[in-house]
Amino acid sequence: MKRVGYPSEIVELISHLKRLPGVGPKSAERIAIWLLRAKGEFAFEFSSAIRNAKEQVTFCRFCGFFESGLAGCDFCRDADRNEQCICVVEQPTDMLPIERTGAFRGFYHSLGGKISPLDNVGPEELRIDALVQRIKEGCVSEIILAVGSDVEGEATASFLADHLKRIDFGRPLSITRIAQGMPAGGGLESADELTLFRALDGRRSL
Ligand code: ZN
Repeated sequence: MKRVGYPSEIVELISHLKRLPGVGPKSAERIAIWLLRAKGEFAFEFSSAIRNAKEQVTFCRFCGFFESGLAGCDFCRDADRNEQCICVVEQPTDMLPIERTGAFRGFYHSLGGKISPLDNVGPEELRIDALVQRIKEGCVSEIILAVGSDVEGEATASFLADHLKRIDFGRPLSITRIAQGMPAGGGLESADELTLFRALDGRRSL
């Protein structure tokens, strides 16, 4: 007797779902069946939402945040922001937690990662040149390094501070690092708003 399984279409759907972060084989099976049984147009709307997002969303060429169809993201097109201050983060997703604290009204810059020799990520893999270019072309006078307090975050912050100090921008540049209150070894995504607010408020000079 042949061992019966799901039709190949369902098997394929499950195999895609299994690749999502945090989704194990059991959950993938449950989600696949749920999608098939969902009422109305949900599954079609869901699949076209994925397609739209994938086709329309790109990374802002200035700061590295997400943008769709326009020149520059919502941060970079906001004329009310303080042009003198750039907050440097590891990932574009780190900008929103800082934004929610309300303690920062400048611009952001995502490095797209952090220095991590174990993962073969060196300074040249990060968006450091783009940052230098922005400082040169704009009127930036303060850089806030809002990278995580883990070993790689510390290495990234000290590399970047040394690197920027060696460049003559033709004007003084203050470089500060958020620290106070940040959980040791933690990334920005694990910090609550109040902790982040205090960390920004109590930034120290490098
Ligand atoms: Zn931007």
